[in-house]
Amino acid sequence: MIHFIGAGPGDPELLTIKGKKLIDQADVIVYAGSLVNPEVLADAKKGAEIHNSAHMNLDEVIDVMSKAHKAGKKVVRVHTGDPAIYGAHREQMDRLDELGIGYEVVPGVSSFLAVAAVLKKEYTLPDVSQTVILTRMEGRTPMPADEKLADLAKHRASLVIFLSVGMMDELASTLIPHYGEDAPVAVVYKATWEDQKIVTGTLKDIAGKVESAGIDRTALTVVGGFLGDEYSLSKLYDKHFTHGFRKGIE
Ligand code: SAH
Repeated sequence: MIHFIGAGPGDPELLTIKGKKLIDQADVIVYAGSLVNPEVLADAKKGAEIHNSAHMNLDEVIDVMSKAHKAGKKVVRVHTGDPAIYGAHREQMDRLDELGIGYEVVPGVSSFLAVAAVLKKEYTLPDVSQTVILTRMEGRTPMPADEKLADLAKHRASLVIFLSVGMMDELASTLIPHYGEDAPVAVVYKATWEDQKIVTGTLKDIAGKVESAGIDRTALTVVGGFLGDEYSLSKLYDKHFTHGFRKGIE
């Protein structure tokens, strides 16, 4: 059994207990070296074989994992955040299916959740937005025709943009017609790492601020009214509102 593990956003204590146990027992570790904090591997077994997938293509990753697996070794494949978000682990799982090798996925704390935590914000404020859109700008991976940022922006949902901090000007100008130039924006570089940086602003000024801060990678951009201070109180904790677990006061 090969284990895909979400390593979390950076802080090694944000790894799940299950993920940590599997990493610490592994004989062979293949990790996404460009983004996974190496400290996540700090308690790996002495003599564990560690491969950085940043230098490997899909064939090489599968080759290393399948050979080790066939030799009876414990193999873990460590992805940043949660593998289900821009992790490219589906293609690896499909190859393992073809090879008849079993696997399991251990989820992790995605960076978009770590970003909300460090900003101390909630994406789903009543009367502001009850929807979170996770997306990216078009890069080498094309965007499907129906998912252009300008179309997604029409919903004015809480917006989380991965992988695109190098395209801030274009991002802001695409969003301004929908969110308004004064809409709040936060850019978080390496959330939960020791060198984390947070830049806040509006769609009008964020590109300049991000450039001055020297941020050009490993950052998430979040946009929307959830960054502001106007919202309605939740029904969940409303004393006049009852639900299955709590009787109302009235
Ligand atoms: N699977 C990962 C995302 C991989 S795509 C997850 O669940 O978070 C890589 C992109 O994720 C980066 O370009 C950046 O946009 C974002 N990212 C990953 N870790 C981050 C962190 N600690 N802080 C801010 N953004 C991060």
